[in-house]
Amino acid sequence: ESVVNRIAAGEVIQRPVSAVKELVENSLDAHSTSINVVVKDGGLKLIQVSDDGHGIRYEDLPILCERHTTSKLSAFEDLQSIKSMGFRGEALASMTYVGHVTVTTITEGQLHGYRVSYKDGVMEHEPKACAAVKGTQIMVENLFYNMTARRKTLQNASDDYSKIVDLMSRFAIHHVDVSFSCRKHGAARVDVHSVATHNRLNAIRSVYGVSVAQSLMEVEASDDDPSSSVFQMGGLISNFSFAAKKTTMVLFINDRLVDWTALKRALEIVYSATLPKASKPFIYMSIVVPPEHVDVNVHPTKREVSLLNQEVIIEQIQSVVESKLRSSDD
Ligand code: ADP
Ligand code: MG
Repeated sequence: ESVVNRIAAGEVIQRPVSAVKELVENSLDAHSTSINVVVKDGGLKLIQVSDDGHGIRYEDLPILCERHTTSKLSAFEDLQSIKSMGFRGEALASMTYVGHVTVTTITEGQLHGYRVSYKDGVMEHEPKACAAVKGTQIMVENLFYNMTARRKTLQNASDDYSKIVDLMSRFAIHHVDVSFSCRKHGAARVDVHSVATHNRLNAIRSVYGVSVAQSLMEVEASDDDPSSSVFQMGGLISNFSFAAKKTTMVLFINDRLVDWTALKRALEIVYSATLPKASKPFIYMSIVVPPEHVDVNVHPTKREVSLLNQEVIIEQIQSVVESKLRSSDD
């Protein structure tokens, strides 16, 4: 059984960056205003995510890492209307099958916190009382220690670290009411640093740099005709002054970080037709659709989504982007 669990867990947590994504989404779900990530050896030695969210209650600690245990889904019907990002109750459990997980947490009004470690889905010992500041810190150590082949394919620590930096950059520019940081363990330099300014341009400037921020134009699209698609889009897209080697598309749908390749391709086409010299744009978009229009992806590692009426939505966004680019190029 333990081998089966380990294989299943290795599917959920494919690389260090998948663990970071799950941990940070949990921190966001816990209404944190500050989330700090520390990584050692590309995440294989250590991933540590500290937040100032609502914490985990003592009585929830024993089952915290059991598979399919979640505090976020009470009935199956909720799947249709779910707003919070986590609903599968599988991420933390999976991490305990492929690494060593230690949780330190304190809830509002408590005098002290608790620390507890997990292995293969269960608590290794009773929670120990400890000093703690507001929120939760989760440490994942020695990820994939029991998966030799996986460790071998993940030899390039700097590659995995840059994936984590990329992920944190994306979170930072969407959740502008949350402060983020990401650095290597023991390093003085912070590689992603954003202060909760409530200002997206400021966040983009501090995370992606001045030249990206300077090139951005606001775009908006919506369609309120209930007979076709219902969606709202707000975003920032680069103009003719921005040239890069590849497209950066940061997309959130209903506040979930996703990939939507069809939209990315469609916008690249608009750029090459309209601004051939700046055909590799920087694009940030936040799209809101009725939750039941998103194909809920049961597989947690797949960021790719599909939407109801996606052709209509893509065409409308394309045309808004095209006219923005044309008007700016005059
Ligand atoms: P899910 O997010 O799908 O519910 P997870 O395995 O990611 O499942 O987390 C299990 C549970 O642990 C969550 O439902 C939540 O109650 C709790 N939890 C995990 N991380 C945090 C955190 N940083 N702050 C508060 N609660 C947390
Ligand atoms: Mg989760």
